[in-house]
Amino acid sequence: MESTIANLLDGKALAQKIQTELQQQVEQLQGQIGRPPGLAVLMVGDNPASAAYVRNKERACQNVGIASFGQLFPSNTTQSELEQAIEALNQDERVDGILVQLPLPDHLDAVPLLHQIDPGKDADGLHPINLGRLVRQEPGLRSCTPAGVMRLLQEYKIDVKGKHAVVVGRSILVGKPLALMLLEADATVTIAHSRSHDLPAITKSADILIAAVGRPKLISADMVKPKAVVVDVGINRVTDDTGKSRLVGDVDFDSVLGVAEYLTPVPGGVGLMTVAMLLQNTVLSYARRNQVVPNAP
Ligand code: NAP
Repeated sequence: MESTIANLLDGKALAQKIQTELQQQVEQLQGQIGRPPGLAVLMVGDNPASAAYVRNKERACQNVGIASFGQLFPSNTTQSELEQAIEALNQDERVDGILVQLPLPDHLDAVPLLHQIDPGKDADGLHPINLGRLVRQEPGLRSCTPAGVMRLLQEYKIDVKGKHAVVVGRSILVGKPLALMLLEADATVTIAHSRSHDLPAITKSADILIAAVGRPKLISADMVKPKAVVVDVGINRVTDDTGKSRLVGDVDFDSVLGVAEYLTPVPGGVGLMTVAMLLQNTVLSYARRNQVVPNAP
């Protein structure tokens, strides 16, 4: 069989390009609106991975000129204290985007908090109104990770129309909204999950294969159709043979590199696109809330 080496879908470069475009839009809009866009990230407790994600988001905000209204709550914060904080941010005119960093400590229930966020400020696109708009193909704030995947495919001119796209994973955070976005883009979509029979047969039929599972190296080369486009959403921390901890995706990168036509690296793929889409959603809601239209980049 003819051997190939996949082209990498470079999320790092694209995220950087999007940030530069957003920075220019913010500069232009700020002149009209008279204040910068604002994003509030609420974090509870001291989960080190979450703290690193929040730091990255705040740094990215700073780079594009978005003001951060981050709030760090102690791990014994109550549900009603968080409800009050969200209500205050819903009313705060300086805040255009609100997100609750997940996971929350066990005694807290994330779902009612996500539902409480003003849908117009729902930077993560996880409010039922925004998910409903996605189902109905109406404009709205789209979930960041799936939107990042779609933007990456678009950047590399990967036409999904009529193609068989297989999404492995059906979470409300990634798998389900991504399947809907692929459907909206005219792909023929299959969603696979932990109860699917014969996963390799399903994945091998994919022209576009998305792994959003959370299992290191679940997708091996023999599960991939030659010349498929493979997008790895997974982020898993593993300890390698030398005892070092590192991040890997759900795809066995080294082997799949020799089968796929396109492949995302981890890190450097979808993760950075998620942050770029969060910033984009914040700028979009800033423009919408102030009824101004940003210049096209
Ligand atoms: P999740 O809520 O745990 O969902 C995982 C999904 O994978 C579930 O639908 C589950 O099926 C399915 N699954 C589990 N084991 C499977 C198996 N052996 N075969 C087939 N399907 C299987 O996770 P998530 O929040 O969607 O996140 C998925 C991965 O993406 C994680 O590694 C996470 O860290 C990463 N992630 C990355 C980003 C980013 O920015 N790159 C953002 C969010 C998440 P059931 O529904 O049947 O249980």
